[in-house]
Amino acid sequence: MTDNPIASHASRPSHSSSRASRTPLSLLGTGTMGSALARAWLAAGHPVTVWNRTPARAEPLAADGATVAASAADAVAASRLVVVCLLDDASVGEALDGADLSGRDLVNLTTGTPAQGRARAAWAEARGARFLDAGIMAVPPMIGDARSGAYVLYSGSPGLFEEHGGTLAVPAGTRYVGADPGFAALHDVALLSAMNGMFAGVLHAFALIRREDIAPSDFAPLVVSWLGAMAPAAHKTAEQLESGDFGKDVVSSLAMQVAGDATLLATAEEQGVSAELLTPYMALMERWLAEGHGDEDTTGMIELLDLGRK
Ligand code: NDP
Repeated sequence: MTDNPIASHASRPSHSSSRASRTPLSLLGTGTMGSALARAWLAAGHPVTVWNRTPARAEPLAADGATVAASAADAVAASRLVVVCLLDDASVGEALDGADLSGRDLVNLTTGTPAQGRARAAWAEARGARFLDAGIMAVPPMIGDARSGAYVLYSGSPGLFEEHGGTLAVPAGTRYVGADPGFAALHDVALLSAMNGMFAGVLHAFALIRREDIAPSDFAPLVVSWLGAMAPAAHKTAEQLESGDFGKDVVSSLAMQVAGDATLLATAEEQGVSAELLTPYMALMERWLAEGHGDEDTTGMIELLDLGRK
């Protein structure tokens, strides 16, 4: 892939006074995330109408200047740009049931699967709305802070993103990842999955040192710098996947790594730590080695994750 398909805006400081920053919008769902989003738009001068199933969670936003709608349908009727941030896809369907979406620009910030994003897009388009699905790569305290690195992945209607990209960039940076409405969720879940692997490794590492005279706070900076040094390996993985050559520029061969696994397992045993977070990955390494890929590194193991593999 030569061109970067991801269009992005950095998040805008809340004192921005551009015209786009004042587009009126309605926000359905004022939970922890929805409230943070609403406050960022209000601080930037947007007229914001909010609705929440439990009204008591929307009412505090009135003090910040929000208009509280009595029903989801009223909130949808109040603005052309409608943002939804609810618990899950089922709650989106439930909340919007009966609302007139024709002519609306619907942006779904609710976490879901790619299939749910695609189905929700078809559902919204059948009701006359343009649709963007989204995945929020941030926690609520990062919202509205231009320096936090928070961003939101968007996919779906390019016209909607083009028109409202400036407004969407107020609470967090934006990354448009394609017209396929499933792509935002796919990127979101792929990144969260990578994060889970990292958290699993970090937990195992702390378990190994836990019973020794090593302060976790002394160990943590070593973990952070080591993971930071290793993370760019993702670029080489990408190059190998794009070239199809899993033996390209191998530094640490699979055969060497599998031999090293014995040391990791023996150390876990010595320290009285369960290796259950490590062994599924090691089993995959051994299978790929047994298939004759000892001179490669670990990228080719992706074949073993392909459930459609013959
Ligand atoms: P909360 O649990 O704080 O809020 C959930 C919201 O969904 C509330 O407004 C709740 O209404 C509403 N809701 C739940 N079920 C229904 C329903 N059946 N009909 C109508 N409304 C319903 O969650 P967050 O605000 O933290 O999360 C919202 C979304 O943001 C989720 O999809 C989450 O994955 C995503 N997100 C959250 C992050 C976080 O760190 N918080 C990080 C990244 C993404 P009520 O108040 O009435 O219960």
